[in-house]
Amino acid sequence: MPSRAGAKPGLRSLLPSNSMEFLENVSLAAYTTFSVGGPARWFGEATTEADVLAAVEFVRARALPLFVLGGGSNLLLSDEGFGGLVLRIGLRGIRQRFDGDLLHFEVAAGENWDQFVSLAVAEDCAGIECLAGIPGTVGGTPVQNVGAYGQEVAETVVGVRALDLQTEKFVWIPAAECGFAYRQSSFNTTERGRYVVTRVDYALTPGGAARIAYADLKKHFADRAGTPSLAEVAGAVREIRRAKGMFLVEGDPDCRSAGSFFKNPVVDLKVLAAIEASVPEGVVVPRYPAGDGKVKLAAAWLLEQAGFRKGFGEGRAGISTRHTLALVNRGGASAAEIVELSERIVTGVEARFGVRLEREPVWVG
Ligand SMILES: Cc1cc2nc3c(=O)[nH]c(=O)nc-3n(C[C@H](O)[C@H](O)[C@H](O)COP(=O)(O)OP(=O)(O)OC[C@H]3O[C@@H](n4cnc5c(N)ncnc54)[C@H](O)[C@@H]3O)c2cc1C
Repeated sequence: MPSRAGAKPGLRSLLPSNSMEFLENVSLAAYTTFSVGGPARWFGEATTEADVLAAVEFVRARALPLFVLGGGSNLLLSDEGFGGLVLRIGLRGIRQRFDGDLLHFEVAAGENWDQFVSLAVAEDCAGIECLAGIPGTVGGTPVQNVGAYGQEVAETVVGVRALDLQTEKFVWIPAAECGFAYRQSSFNTTERGRYVVTRVDYALTPGGAARIAYADLKKHFADRAGTPSLAEVAGAVREIRRAKGMFLVEGDPDCRSAGSFFKNPVVDLKVLAAIEASVPEGVVVPRYPAGDGKVKLAAAWLLEQAGFRKGFGEGRAGISTRHTLALVNRGGASAAEIVELSERIVTGVEARFGVRLEREPVWVG
């Protein structure tokens, strides 16, 4: 059954031949971590693959657009809402099987990501411990190849089961065909909107060592004797994230966001040289190798240097007081206000450094 949270009184519902219910005019703000967004013309929650097929039949019969919703943690939904069917993915279940030395976890797309990380860590399986505390669903993780603290899911995803909306058949897409790159996959680029992910398989390493590659983590364990366990690393990541407002805590306005709003830009060395020439001598421009003669710049550093610091913004939309890259809804902000703020920042950074920042959350509507 779909959740009725956020549904307007007097809404109509339609029940097709199977058990799936389609609700009309459901406010979407409650389904996003930004807490913004107008109504969905239609809304349903799929708990089985048959429900996903029923939803596709529903939109085909009415010539409506379909939007697939996970945990709503990487979305900016317009104030006008969405004129088609918003299909929330609620499929549950986790199976495990050994493949050689690796333990494969076959995880239904509607499972909560952070709870799955906790399970893997409790089973002493390495590979996703640094991705603890990221909100959203399992099905959302391959879409932007989620990553944090020196790990990304591309390293452990074996493949994805999905409904191909072109053929209306379920398919298996091996990781090598997912087009994974930094915050990118074929699901959010070349094949955007083509697949409904129903399951993701991950290969984790039983008894494997925790990854401590990221500066914040190294610092956290600097005085610690011995090797930290997977549970200690996952716990440290959650603690660091909490301090930055990057761990969802009910009622904390710094958490009313979609995480980092801007991607770290990847630029060629000429752009880096121009930036270096524009800053006072001795100032080091943070950069990380990105292959192909390119470097990845720190978007947060660019914002700060261009005058957009933590707490920036006078209105209901602003920059988090704890994380420069997180735009937050301080309470009652509209999507338009958030877009306006983001455009002001993009323009300001481009004017200062000649680098145009790209938005990370998906814009809907
Ligand atoms: C506080 C905070 C911290 C965050 N930190 C990080 C971080 O460290 N690293 C990081 O990478 N991200 C981070 N994010 C962003 C976000 O949590 C991830 O991108 C997450 O994986 C999105 O999953 P979701 O289920 O919420 O997807 P949604 O936001 O619901 O959807 C995002 C996109 O994925 C598509 N999608 C979702 N599920 C499916 C599916 N089953 N099939 C097909 N398409 C689907 C949607 O259509 C949409 O295009 C953060 C967000 C917040 C709010």
